[in-house]
Amino acid sequence: MMKTRIAILGGGPAGVGAAYKLRQLDAAEVVLFEQNDHLGGNAGTFEKNGHVLDYGSHRLHPVTEPEVLHDIQSFLGEDLLDRPRHGRIRLRGRWVHFPLKPMDLVFHLNPGFALGAAGDMVKKTIFGKGDEGETFGSILRANLGATICDDFYFPYARKIWGLAPEEMAGIQARRRVSAGSFGKLLKKVFGQVPGFKAKMSGRFYYPRHGFGAITQAYADQAEKLGAEIALRTQVRNLEQNEGGWQIRAANEDASREEQFDQVWSTIPLTTLTKILGDQVPEDVVAARENISYRAMILVYLDLETHQFTEFDAHYFPEANLLLTRLSETKNYAVRSEPKGRTVICAEVPCLVGDETWNSDDATLGKRIEADLRHCDLEVTCKIAEVWTRRLPQAYPLYPVGYEEPFEKLDAWVSKLPNFLSYGRQGLFAHDNTHHALFMAYSAAKCLRDGQFDREKWLEYREIFSHHVVED
Ligand SMILES: Cc1cc2nc3c(=O)[nH]c(=O)nc-3n(C[C@H](O)[C@H](O)[C@H](O)COP(=O)(O)OP(=O)(O)OC[C@H]3O[C@@H](n4cnc5c(N)ncnc54)[C@H](O)[C@@H]3O)c2cc1C
Repeated sequence: MMKTRIAILGGGPAGVGAAYKLRQLDAAEVVLFEQNDHLGGNAGTFEKNGHVLDYGSHRLHPVTEPEVLHDIQSFLGEDLLDRPRHGRIRLRGRWVHFPLKPMDLVFHLNPGFALGAAGDMVKKTIFGKGDEGETFGSILRANLGATICDDFYFPYARKIWGLAPEEMAGIQARRRVSAGSFGKLLKKVFGQVPGFKAKMSGRFYYPRHGFGAITQAYADQAEKLGAEIALRTQVRNLEQNEGGWQIRAANEDASREEQFDQVWSTIPLTTLTKILGDQVPEDVVAARENISYRAMILVYLDLETHQFTEFDAHYFPEANLLLTRLSETKNYAVRSEPKGRTVICAEVPCLVGDETWNSDDATLGKRIEADLRHCDLEVTCKIAEVWTRRLPQAYPLYPVGYEEPFEKLDAWVSKLPNFLSYGRQGLFAHDNTHHALFMAYSAAKCLRDGQFDREKWLEYREIFSHHVVED
């Protein structure tokens, strides 16, 4: 019997995860189209000046579903490192360890902050949290009180999403903030105490050769099982017909047109509906104009020193600083190479086309240096080079009321025959890599004898809607 032919659009975790799982289950023939010359999407890795670097801080969280984790462990073997988290958050001008640790808080937390947060907790215990409301701001304020919100979550959120806390939908608080109440926060803090500590608490997995090794391993396995992976091949046109879908994809050298029974898309919903052109009704086009993604510039400073700090990541909630997080990838993998050099990567959220996005690399590098100096993290060694990477779709944006246009778009795409949109970009979900991989496995399990089981997929979508993002 002829096998169902599936075109997968996008070679991030969602795309390569499905290519692997579909072939492993021998459920379909697979061609995966990726526009870049490398796999991994936002979760990829690249090399420059002898450094192995990720697109910002990336870790594999221990809450990864067992089936997915088992596969990653078997693909990477001893190259999947089990590492302690060792970061710092800047709160009222002082550094506190992240994940939070009771004794570190006692010694390093600003006393005014500690008293304020303790007072908020007592008030909440006596008077209850009251009406939570429906915005990011109202939910967090009701659950965590003013001190933690005003000094940490709100300024940090303003920088990441470019919106005031009251302008953001409640889902942002429910799915983005894993310590969204005093109970959860205390559990996290005391979960770091020996004796109370769960096995993987305060730890993460990281591939020795960069986070992108995870997607690369999936792609290698999928290819071994017969999938075709087409790099540097951008999908530019999708035409629905009786037999399924005609795809036109191209790279600089050639274009290819092919017929597929089904299309599984992990590319941004907004891009997808542009590629679909006239097939998209006007009201859906109008809805698309009302959903958007937050972009991010990653500013890399190549330093002529072996190590900048001992920490893996620093978090910067302060509004006057451009960056939200700084990571030193070498520390994630305890790498000793290259000798005498390290790279720090600053995450700068922005919008495509805004002033920050349009700034040149040298200007951004200078600004990051100044921000670090302000935080007593002055770069004292020579900077060999500054460069950037720009992610146009880093985070889905959830302003109040985003649900209506998103649901319109999602409902229309979900009804397209022989078509599936999933993954972080395809479901407009602020998810982690392990979530995207779980979606890919779930999708593959919905395919039986070439037929996609929509009802089973809806059950999975209900599970996806409870995913909580790990930082
Ligand atoms: C700064 C930052 C830090 C993060 N940290 C973590 C972390 O610590 N841990 C974690 O688990 N997750 C983290 N994430 C999230 C993680 O990056 C995503 O969950 C993951 O990349 C989602 O995978 P995806 O396949 O759904 O989408 P993507 O990775 O976005 O992949 C989509 C792919 O589609 C391709 N594409 C788009 N258009 C076309 C086209 N027309 N034709 C062909 N290909 C196309 C793109 O090039 C891309 O490769 C972080 C994300 C960011 C931005």
